[in-house]
Amino acid sequence: MEMLKVENLSKVYGKGDTAVKALDDVSFSVTKGQFVAIIGPSGSGKSTLLHLLGGVDRPSSGNVLVDQTNMYELDETQLAIFRRRQIGLIYQFYNLIPILTVEENMTLPILLDGHKVEAERLNEMVSRLGLEQRLHHLPNQLSGGQQQRVSIGRALVSNPAIMLADEPTGNLDSKNSKEIIDLLKYFNRSLKQTLIVITHDERIALQADRIITIEDGKIASDEVTGR
Ligand code: ADP
Ligand code: ADP
Repeated sequence: MEMLKVENLSKVYGKGDTAVKALDDVSFSVTKGQFVAIIGPSGSGKSTLLHLLGGVDRPSSGNVLVDQTNMYELDETQLAIFRRRQIGLIYQFYNLIPILTVEENMTLPILLDGHKVEAERLNEMVSRLGLEQRLHHLPNQLSGGQQQRVSIGRALVSNPAIMLADEPTGNLDSKNSKEIIDLLKYFNRSLKQTLIVITHDERIALQADRIITIEDGKIASDEVTGR
């Protein structure tokens, strides 16, 4: 089943002489549960693409359909709600809210939508993430690996169809990197969540089902790994 469909997606930053075409007519589809690595040189448009898949920014032209919903036909309010329910985002530097505890950071997306957090689901996730002893700590009291696990928890809490990660291990040592990738793979497999990861790390890319290489705002190659 097709979970994500990208149609003729382009993004231009700025205007006139200083305009930068960051993404140039990119199209591809991703099936439910697929794990896709996105690689390519710095400045090639990877983060721009991920932001557009996540509904964080708007394209200059083209469409992104998530589970058949055309995201950029939604208004700002609808898009914000859609994004919180359907898309989990993970960043290199975690982007946790420093004045909120681990538990508050993780449950915020659900509370913002006016829902209650199911204790059982939360407990299961917290234990899988190994954060039982850290729920009432603030982000700056945690190691980098722990902060990234909190951000995975926050991304997972509304059980989104798609997880998007931008260099999730870029700030971690190899032991913590492996833990984070193992967790992302675990949720990708067990929850059949579509997983798209930007990475510079070839060891991570080779664990994906498919590797898309972006160069100069275009897809330079798109290969199934045979994992
Ligand atoms: P990557 O993630 O592959 O390093 P980016 O998507 O961050 O690439 O950037 C692609 C191109 O778009 C680069 O030339 C970058 O300088 C430019 N760019 C990215 N974000 C902005 C922005 N907010 N304003 C202007 N130019 C940008
Ligand atoms: P790692 O080697 O995994 O990066 P650290 O050496 O940063 O971990 O931290 C080791 C342990 O100490 C972790 O369990 C972390 O939660 C705890 N810790 C680190 N910094 C603080 C702090 N400022 N306050 C309380 N606990 C901390």
